[in-house]
Amino acid sequence: MNENGDQGWAAQSRLDLDGSALVANWQALARLSGDAATGAAVKADGYGLGAREVVRRLAKAGCRDFFVAHAAEAAAIADLVAPQSISILNGLLNEDIDQIRARGFRPVLNSLPQVRRWIEGGGGPCDLMIDSGMARLGLSPEQVAAPEVASLEIDTLMSHLGSAEEDTVRNARQLSVFRDICAQLPARRRSLANSAGIALGPDYRFDLTRPGLAIYGGIPVPSMAQHVRSVVSLSARVLQLRELNTGDAVGYGATFVAPHRMRSATLGIGYADGYLRGFSNSGSCRWHDIALPVLGRVSMDLLIVDAGNAEGLQEGDWVAVDYDLPTASRQSGLSQYELLTGLRHRSERRWTDS
Ligand SMILES: *Cc1c(COP(=O)(O)O)cnc(C)c1O
Repeated sequence: MNENGDQGWAAQSRLDLDGSALVANWQALARLSGDAATGAAVKADGYGLGAREVVRRLAKAGCRDFFVAHAAEAAAIADLVAPQSISILNGLLNEDIDQIRARGFRPVLNSLPQVRRWIEGGGGPCDLMIDSGMARLGLSPEQVAAPEVASLEIDTLMSHLGSAEEDTVRNARQLSVFRDICAQLPARRRSLANSAGIALGPDYRFDLTRPGLAIYGGIPVPSMAQHVRSVVSLSARVLQLRELNTGDAVGYGATFVAPHRMRSATLGIGYADGYLRGFSNSGSCRWHDIALPVLGRVSMDLLIVDAGNAEGLQEGDWVAVDYDLPTASRQSGLSQYELLTGLRHRSERRWTDS
């Protein structure tokens, strides 16, 4: 059965999700985080994998801090974990204040108006974001001195690294700015590192780390490859096999033309399943150990591959779509984050926990 509730119809693409790898990745990140506690970013529906499936498994493994972007995402997992363990990164929109407070979620206050609104509404535990150098969300270091900030009951004081996956002085600069703020502002805990930030070493760990990508099998920096297992595998069904003659155009826009006689397979997966057009003429699939390179453009619902070496491949067979995240990122020009969050629910989803 697929998640849309349809029953009995054949799936054309499938997402296999490895719950054991997900948990093992979080545990590896917890080890790499040393004495710091390790949370989990589960925003954007658990990076596309399904927030509830992710949160249930990580909570069981001992994770006690979950970071979402929207208040609605907090509500969607609120029955699975304690409300005070859910932190809302995108901050506080006026309409949400009363509900956030009533439900006991932690808003991440990102601006002085948000700080004022939170205090005027009665205050209570909250998180506070400092912009240490990426000009996105958070109080500037100067704003921290505002008197209203001193009256906050700060659970987690945090900042976010803008270039953690790069070897650049910007990391040390952000670290230094954040340390200065930590020395000025009392808080129960301090938190700076995302997945790549954990790999920057002990100075970046503080009391709590906030990995996302690496939990889901992404490899933000090469040194993490040895600690992270793949969680997501994608496969698609063969809908048709064709013989191509020399000169035959393949797919929309004829971006591939058969240079000789070939055999192609048309698969039931396309960009509407999250297999985006960046894989046109660059992605690949596999049947057993045989490579099936993508031919021409990815269509909305269909993909054409070279099945010349796959003797014995038949209509109805399943083939694996190569979706190893670092490789697929290079092939498609999409980030590993986009590859995960773009996955759709039209594919049948299967979690296994071995
Ligand atoms: C998304 C996010 C994270 C997780 O980052 P990854 O690079 O996926 O590990 C951590 N902190 C904040 C503020 C975020 O927005």
